[in-house]
Amino acid sequence: SSICSNEPDEFIPDGCATYGSLEELNKQIRPLVQDITRGTDYFSYYRLDLYGRTCPFWSDDEGMCANIACAVNTIDNQEDIPEIWRAEELGKLAGPRAKHPKDHKKPTESPLGGQLGEDTEESCVVEEDECDERDYCVPEDETGSNGDYVSLIDNPERFTGYAGAGAGMVWKSIYRENCFSKDKQNSRPPPSQAKQGFENIMHDKLTHQAGKDLEGQLSLLEHTEVDDQCLEKRVFYRIISGMHASISVHLCWDYLNQTTGEWGPNLDCFIERFKGHPERIQNIYFNYAILLRAVAKLKNYLPQYTFCSGDHLQNRLTKAKMMKLASTIPSEPSIFDESKMFKEEAAVLKEEFRNRFRNVSRVMDCVGCDKCRLWGKVQTQGYGTALKILFEFDENADITENPPLRRTELVALINTLDRVSHALSVLPKFQELWEKRNRTE
Ligand code: FAD
Repeated sequence: SSICSNEPDEFIPDGCATYGSLEELNKQIRPLVQDITRGTDYFSYYRLDLYGRTCPFWSDDEGMCANIACAVNTIDNQEDIPEIWRAEELGKLAGPRAKHPKDHKKPTESPLGGQLGEDTEESCVVEEDECDERDYCVPEDETGSNGDYVSLIDNPERFTGYAGAGAGMVWKSIYRENCFSKDKQNSRPPPSQAKQGFENIMHDKLTHQAGKDLEGQLSLLEHTEVDDQCLEKRVFYRIISGMHASISVHLCWDYLNQTTGEWGPNLDCFIERFKGHPERIQNIYFNYAILLRAVAKLKNYLPQYTFCSGDHLQNRLTKAKMMKLASTIPSEPSIFDESKMFKEEAAVLKEEFRNRFRNVSRVMDCVGCDKCRLWGKVQTQGYGTALKILFEFDENADITENPPLRRTELVALINTLDRVSHALSVLPKFQELWEKRNRTE
């Protein structure tokens, strides 16, 4: 059931992870992550500047959908459906500009960048609005005035109707960032690695037989020097593609039937996006492994981290939940081995990787649907945080020796893990729907 061969591959060393073992792990992880994202104030509110930043890449005049109107245009017969089901409405935030239940306390000056101990209740993580050189994203403004606390629970990631040229342009711009100076060919995505069909990958995945296919894929990735794609570029592509795939799973899972007004899974939506593209699903697993590894690396960091909700008991509970999550994940890099990256030309590539990620996070300001922008930003920040932890953190070092983690970074990381973990948990349900349809046809 291994997703990699007995041969060590580029990321997953001996004793390598499997689709099956990731799924098994997800059964343990899922309730813990849910308990954190839904059961704590700290992780269920995200503060970000949703409206204050303009799209730096194109203007509304170019028709590239920096406004909500083009989202409305993308669904046929918008006028024929009730107003509340129209893309414009669906894309709006519920309870916009929600207030954090407790006033967020200003951080005290701290030589550690705000990471003071448990006893110093009033001290929170410093949220500077400036990029640290180790950041992989444009930090969201946590302390400044241009931010809104948004409830992530009240604004679930689901179908919004945002589509068409605007959405396509955003995805294109994001994939275009996948062009590293080391490449000879510009912005060419990896070849479609897996030849296997959708039905097979879904079936194999469920019967834990997908090993050979990903094995083939990984070895192909390893030997794609004909395309001159450095390892870092391949990783970048897979992260973006996995994020895109997870968003697609969620919009198809929580889809609005605009005829009946009912929400529910839409198998056709899923098939449209994944049939013939098993690698998109594999990239969700890839992202899951990256996020898990990042959280596992926080095991020694969390005990000294201050969770500021303004309530001492809440802080302790939140910390306990996070520690439980981190310690449930296997700690060795058996699921993703980050040490394989940035070996050659490390400094240049690392810098480039960071810049590309920062650009992706800026492109999010061009998403013309509030709810999609919210989740796009959360997830870009989540992957940015994971990469920061993977490449800049020493898991054995004390908190004082590691870079500070902002609240927004940690909240984004865990909510991104929640999204991916949820995406994995509903894949078998799409499979069931698919098999049911095949039986009745
Ligand atoms: P798109 O998903 O727009 O894809 C464009 C092209 O990219 C495809 O034609 C294909 O060639 C390629 N592609 C697709 N998937 C992958 C993949 N996984 N890996 C590699 N290449 C791929 N809509 C919602 O309803 N709810 C949301 O919450 C939401 N959030 C969004 C967040 C962001 C940041 C963006 C940019 C869009 C969001 N959308 C959301 C819109 C949604 O992602 C699609 O753009 C929309 O549903 C139209 O889908 P599509 O079939 O035209 O293809």
